Amino acid sequence: MITAVFPGSFDPLTNGHVDIIERSVKLFDKVIVAVVSNPEKNPLFSIPEREALIRTELKRLGKRVEVRSFSGLLVEFLKQTRSSIVIRGLRAISDYDYETQMALVNKSLWDQVETVFLVAREENSYISSSLVKQVALYGGDVASFVPPHIGKALRQKAKERGGKRKQR
Ligand code: ADP
Repeated sequence: MITAVFPGSFDPLTNGHVDIIERSVKLFDKVIVAVVSNPEKNPLFSIPEREALIRTELKRLGKRVEVRSFSGLLVEFLKQTRSSIVIRGLRAISDYDYETQMALVNKSLWDQVETVFLVAREENSYISSSLVKQVALYGGDVASFVPPHIGKALRQKAKERGGKRKQR
């Protein structure tokens, strides 16, 4: 049984991530979507919020997809989950430098790691969580970038932030 891990911030999950997960399930027996708790980033959604949003979306894919979170080194998380495969999505050439750097660092930490890159679909290639957040926080329509319930959660966050701005 081959388990692969798809790590990311998923702040929030976008249609681009969903596509990579759906395609990964066809390649591996089990896919663990691993939400990275990265204290350096200033997230919009908390880790439990992100996990819940992802779970709601991926329920339809059944038991072969698991949602977890982790902090620390990815290779340690891989060992814990008895996996040696990392899935990453590649959008533009701009992703390439960072992604190969991460893949090489992980390989130098643990030689058994293999990073598998799936090329983003053309229609998703310009979608990023940070862009989606910016559009949503300025009141724009994100319906074509994220699943409907995540659009709703983004509108709620935008409302809360707007409210806070007005209170100041
Ligand atoms: P990170 O902060 O680790 O880059 P992200 O949540 O931004 O986390 O991305 C997780 C993974 O999903 C990365 O491999 C990224 O390249 C990929 N990804 C992000 N957006 C898309 C997209 N629109 N299409 C395909 N893959 C994507």
